[in-house]
Amino acid sequence: MKVLVLNCGSSSIKYQLFNMEDESVLAKGLVERIGLQGAVLTHRPSGKEKKVIAADIPDHSVGIKMVLEAMVHPEHGVLTKMEEIDAVGHRVAHGGSIFPKSALIDAQAKESIKSLFNIAPLHNPPAYLGIEAVEKALPGVPMVAVFDTSFHQTMPPAAYMYSLPYELYEKYGLRKYGFHGTSHKYVAYRAAALLNRPIEELKIITCHLGNGASITAIDGGKSIDTSMGFTPLEGLTMGTRCGDLDPAIVTFLEEQEGLSCSEVNNLLNKKSGVLGISGVSSDFRDIEEAAAQGNKRAQLALDVFAHDVKKYIGAYAAALNGLDVIVFTAGLGENSPEMREKICKDMEFFGIKLDGTKNKIRGQEADVSADDSKVRIMVIPTNEELVIARDTKQIVEQ
Ligand code: ADP
Repeated sequence: MKVLVLNCGSSSIKYQLFNMEDESVLAKGLVERIGLQGAVLTHRPSGKEKKVIAADIPDHSVGIKMVLEAMVHPEHGVLTKMEEIDAVGHRVAHGGSIFPKSALIDAQAKESIKSLFNIAPLHNPPAYLGIEAVEKALPGVPMVAVFDTSFHQTMPPAAYMYSLPYELYEKYGLRKYGFHGTSHKYVAYRAAALLNRPIEELKIITCHLGNGASITAIDGGKSIDTSMGFTPLEGLTMGTRCGDLDPAIVTFLEEQEGLSCSEVNNLLNKKSGVLGISGVSSDFRDIEEAAAQGNKRAQLALDVFAHDVKKYIGAYAAALNGLDVIVFTAGLGENSPEMREKICKDMEFFGIKLDGTKNKIRGQEADVSADDSKVRIMVIPTNEELVIARDTKQIVEQ
């Protein structure tokens, strides 16, 4: 079975085509700047030269058509005909409380995804555009939606309720949902497999530290709390997002700076985080470099980030009533030995002890804990696309 995985953003489409016989990637790529000047498709067929195609790409429909054409191209293609694609898996950010697991996309599922536009106005509409574009381009091919929120639907009410009037929860579904679920689930199960332990026995904290960052407490394979909330703005300091904040700051900024709601929203989502603190960049590589050269605000941004992660680890060890494994994943978690070391420093109280030598790795699976560490500390590169492909195959074959 061949499964195409799509991750549609407002102006981009990321894709991977899997051969599910051996879970190999046949091709992957990215459409960027949809609807803007300078739109481009970068197609990477396995075992062949990458192909960069600049074109006018006014919308997602045109973008997806280009992706499919690249797949069957005589030179840089990997299929002889489009009909070889058996199913399509879509990453959809928000499944609300409607989708506790991945779902076959039918008329009703589409309506449900649409009904969540009001709580995910930035993230769900592009996924919906992708779904409609594939319907047009590959009529009759089954599609599955895989949600970032589903894995966290096992959180108990005590973890997901906000202390707001209960009526607002009933009226708008105002509660914590959590995101990056496919990633947290993948690395937690992978950690159990690598340790050769049943996941039902393990208390795991997964740290997805990328441009967007979140931490999850996983008890026996189930998410019991996570740092992102109603939207992906809550929790850790991130690349450009503020994370946890005194909510009174929102009205303070509106009053003192004369900012509108959307301006505050933009400030908290796009201008804050380690970019806001450092003034250098949202990219941790740039910040680490600046800090190494003595930039104090860059150093402060790294300190704030590591402090945030530490605090969540402590909080989640309490929520879990114990801790067996910490997993680091995503861009920073996988690739920054320095940040992993900073986070794990002075955590012996929790039985967390890193091995400085083992920790000197990037982007590969490894146990980096000291031999006498009670808690296993692991680095596991995430693979959200593979989870989406697996779910898609499983649901289509049911
Ligand atoms: P997202 O998918 O949320 O855009 P990623 O998981 O790709 O994010 O992570 C991107 C972040 O990871 C960037 O801030 C980047 O600087 C950081 N990162 C990637 N490689 C390294 C590295 N070698 N050292 C430090 N940080 C890195």
